[in-house]
Amino acid sequence: MSDTIISVKNVTKQYQATQAGGIKNISFEIKKGDVVAIIGESGSGKSTLLKSIYGLLKIDDGEIFFQNEKVKGPDEQLIPGHKQMKMVTQDFSLNIYAKVYDNIASQLSNTDLKTKAEKTNQIMEHLRISQLQNKKIIELSGGEQQRVAIAKAMVADTQVLLLDEPFSQVDALLKNQLRGDIKRVAAETGVTVILVSHDPADGLFLADQLLIIKDGKLLQTGKPAEIYQHPEHIYTARILGNAVVLNKADAEKIGLKTEKEMVVFYPEWAELKSNWDSRRFEVKDVYYKGFYDELLLERNGVLVRALQLNRGAHKKNDHVQLNIGRFLEF
Ligand code: ADP
Ligand code: MG
Repeated sequence: MSDTIISVKNVTKQYQATQAGGIKNISFEIKKGDVVAIIGESGSGKSTLLKSIYGLLKIDDGEIFFQNEKVKGPDEQLIPGHKQMKMVTQDFSLNIYAKVYDNIASQLSNTDLKTKAEKTNQIMEHLRISQLQNKKIIELSGGEQQRVAIAKAMVADTQVLLLDEPFSQVDALLKNQLRGDIKRVAAETGVTVILVSHDPADGLFLADQLLIIKDGKLLQTGKPAEIYQHPEHIYTARILGNAVVLNKADAEKIGLKTEKEMVVFYPEWAELKSNWDSRRFEVKDVYYKGFYDELLLERNGVLVRALQLNRGAHKKNDHVQLNIGRFLEF
């Protein structure tokens, strides 16, 4: 228990205007130093949960603890937001006409100028922005601005960094870099990171813990690989892995027997075979995915997808056989 930094206990927050919005009876714990990703489709309550943890929203029910201290809501303190937590939102809230160095250093007091300079330089090194220190924010790219925003949020002994959709403004290449940076900075500094994303790739890559939320409810939490391999809901398999979802009747048309209503499998669980039994699928389309192909396959009017690692081996209109080695039933 001692390495728990955040505990969320039965937290409910409903917005008056929209009875459907908000979050409902959510409970979980976060370990100090972990990178935690909150994943869910747009409107599922991710930002509401993040703001609640930070103390920006007055929650209706439940409690949130930072270590052993209860997080105060905006009605309980003058300046909303916990002192040892920092939230970075999509607008970055940087002074765009000031220099990078000054944006970051502004978070530290002037009582000890030596420490101020040391800490500012150190965090710039961690985020690999030292070479930008004398540039103004308006002279930076979106990705560089984001690094500065994270450095600014972290410089003043921040214990928990809250990131709301940190990758939404950046291109794919930069996204990979930033993901790596966040993971590395967390490991080097021991800061706990909670990030929110509607894109599961963000979370799967770097998280120690995933939280899957839907319609304001926590569906599942755990390590990314565990959740991916053993999703408890179809929504989770869909959002994490672009899963194939079939109803019982369709499943049976392609030879999968089930007592349940739905069958779900990830494309990579379906293995292409060249000499197997009589389950014949026709290749309807081939999607180029870089180092592999994704095949759209049809049998008895049912469409499924499978991966072809041996790129180009089967083409449109070919007939292939498929071994769906593993599938989940719901
Ligand atoms: P996400 O970040 O996952 O997209 P949000 O937490 O922002 O979701 O919102 C969850 C739900 O609560 C949505 O249905 C949204 O419309 C509603 N909501 C969010 N903020 C407010 C607000 N200030 N007033 C009324 N409804 C809100
Ligand atoms: Mg949001």
